[in-house]
Amino acid sequence: MTAVTTDWDVAVVGAGIAGLTAARACAERGLRVVAHDALAPGGQLINLGTLADWPGPATTGPDLMSALLTDVMERGVEIAYGEVTGLRTDPLTVDAAEGPASARAVVVATGRGPGRLDVPDAEGWEGRGLSHCATCDGPLHAGREVVVVGDDEWTAHEALELAGIAKRVTVVSASPTWPAALDRRLTDAVDVRRGTVASLAGEGTLAAVHLADSDVLEASGIFVYTHAEPRTALLDGLPAGAPVWSAGDVTGADRHLLTAAADGLRAGHAVVAHLEES
Ligand SMILES: Cc1cc2nc3c(=O)[nH]c(=O)nc-3n(C[C@H](O)[C@H](O)[C@H](O)COP(=O)(O)OP(=O)(O)OC[C@H]3O[C@@H](n4cnc5c(N)ncnc54)[C@H](O)[C@@H]3O)c2cc1C
Repeated sequence: MTAVTTDWDVAVVGAGIAGLTAARACAERGLRVVAHDALAPGGQLINLGTLADWPGPATTGPDLMSALLTDVMERGVEIAYGEVTGLRTDPLTVDAAEGPASARAVVVATGRGPGRLDVPDAEGWEGRGLSHCATCDGPLHAGREVVVVGDDEWTAHEALELAGIAKRVTVVSASPTWPAALDRRLTDAVDVRRGTVASLAGEGTLAAVHLADSDVLEASGIFVYTHAEPRTALLDGLPAGAPVWSAGDVTGADRHLLTAAADGLRAGHAVVAHLEES
């Protein structure tokens, strides 16, 4: 085992809006804080265009991410790149990409995984037409037909964004209760189909989506938002009373930027109170 390399007051795992807000709250109180991210700081924000349900002047995900990152770094938060693969107690240790590091408290803000499709070789279709991000991959399907799979408000949001690019957008929803409120947000350029996807087909890249009821939809892209499960692996099996807090989408709570930020702030304040008492 590599020696423990650095002692931190607080290690935040996941530098999305929840983790960065927790890191900021701790750094403001003079604590030494590191925020780890497996990909890049910003989390889901990086994939979002103009934000919905965001108060104040309209802004995009990348613009907000950049402002948040500048702000936390100015307050002394160190950003560490790479996946955290484990969390151990006695002493509290984060298994980071650059080696294990000890911390007096940890905030886990690892968000949710990408949407998942229950079809043969789903992973093999990633990057060959299967995507989870309208802003990133939508332009690849300009003037073509795409399918969107999901049943929440962000599915509708993504379908609308794609409607401005693709020739035709079909939302496939397994939910018998796809809310009428979502239908009202959609335009004539979007169809909603009740059903599930059975398989994907195409030579090299996606050409068609086969539904369980045997219908076939022509599509060059499929955007998947179902089964996006909270990434809780680091929290599993921790002893009761460990100085570890969770915040944001990883808690399985409401999926909004504002609630994730509020959650991060609460976690940051709880960490500060804990460390001031100990
Ligand atoms: C398609 C879509 C559109 C949305 N649009 C909006 C919107 O317009 N307005 C709004 O309010 N909300 C929107 N939301 C919801 C919002 O994006 C999320 O609620 C919010 O981003 C969650 O923030 P988070 O910090 O909890 O998680 P995330 O933003 O997911 O960040 C988690 C971070 O943890 C990192 N991570 C994970 N595991 C590890 C590990 N083991 N080691 C290191 N790092 C790790 C990830 O790389 C990621 O950067 C949308 C959601 C989706 C899916």
